[in-house]
Amino acid sequence: MKKLLLAALGLLVLSAHADTFPSKPVTIVVPFVAGGPTDRVARDLAEAMRKPLGDATILIENVLGAGSSIGSAKVARANPDGYTLMLNHIAMASMPNLLRNMPFKVESDFEYLGLINEVPMTVITRPTLPAKNMKELREWLNANKGKINLGNAGVGSASHLCGLMFQNALQIDMTSIPYKGTAPAMTDLMGGQIDIMCDQTTNTTPMIEAKKVNVYGVTTAKRLTTPVLKDVPTLQEDGLKGFEVTIWHGLYAPKGTPADVVAKINNALKIALKDPDFVKKQEALGAVIINDKRVEPAEHKRFVAAEITKWGPVIAAAKVYID
Ligand code: ASP
Repeated sequence: MKKLLLAALGLLVLSAHADTFPSKPVTIVVPFVAGGPTDRVARDLAEAMRKPLGDATILIENVLGAGSSIGSAKVARANPDGYTLMLNHIAMASMPNLLRNMPFKVESDFEYLGLINEVPMTVITRPTLPAKNMKELREWLNANKGKINLGNAGVGSASHLCGLMFQNALQIDMTSIPYKGTAPAMTDLMGGQIDIMCDQTTNTTPMIEAKKVNVYGVTTAKRLTTPVLKDVPTLQEDGLKGFEVTIWHGLYAPKGTPADVVAKINNALKIALKDPDFVKKQEALGAVIINDKRVEPAEHKRFVAAEITKWGPVIAAAKVYID
């Protein structure tokens, strides 16, 4: 009897959460710098999720550093009430393979709220670098071994992962210059302080279009269809066999967030992913909005687990572990 009463009470508390959620602003933590590609996705998404969440105020908080592990650890420890969420990318799969001392557990410290989009990357250089195509870039890199500065957003970030693969494919070591996101790295690349970077098209497309950086290749198996990037060869065409990396972004809440609140946020996310404005903005930057079962929490979780397994050997081949 006592058990039944407790269960009924539990149910009451659960539905009370969903009935009133959200009754105050919801914060989406972005573990990279404002103005960068992850931040771009989060700000566009927050706008699209506001209405489906009952005109909620959705704030973005940039919690920076260590290739997203600082922001991710903060969210893993946050109050699991639905008011603190996180938007992160493929780092959720690269960090567990790269970091020997993970400050949180990707598999068990989060509620998965759904996958958002997939974004290709591009290899870009400072505008003053003289190489006109990938062949000339390889020659330039070979001629400048030991002097090449490669920008990235810290260990485990997408740009770090792609940069590792690039160095490994060319067998050329470059000096890693970590930033707290690729927005400031892009500023330094345009200014010539660093030489080369791999970054999401959501950040690079406008800079490529404005000719503020040089572009050499896309990281997808097929060429892209976005007007600005449609003539850019794939790295595979340029002889980097099997080079393929696509960045994905997902939404997370701390483990223990009530199931009905998770369902409410997931529902708002699914509506946002069909919002024509959101889709248009993202597609113009080369992103593909998820339109399959990975928008469901269980499939999102399965997908991330599979990605952790998939990236293990690639990272092991690059022989870099961070203590
Ligand atoms: N593009 C970054 C990365 O390399 C993240 C960011 O700055 O949004 O992971």
